[in-house]
Amino acid sequence: MSVFRHGDPLDDFDRLDLEQSRWLERRPKCKVCGEHIQDETGIHIEDYWICEQCIKDNRESIEDYE
Ligand SMILES: [Zn+2]
Repeated sequence: MSVFRHGDPLDDFDRLDLEQSRWLERRPKCKVCGEHIQDETGIHIEDYWICEQCIKDNRESIEDYE
């Protein structure tokens, strides 16, 4: 079985898109806004994650958990 990296550009795009959504599914979700955390900017508090934007928006209440 071979993998075609230079086939139809549309196929490549679809595959990339699929790979990205699979990757996204494995990312943790922000406890506050429900968005996937796509990089390492979120923080992990006990058993959930909070994204960078929500940390900024809720800094005072989040600090209570630390
Ligand atoms: Zn968030």
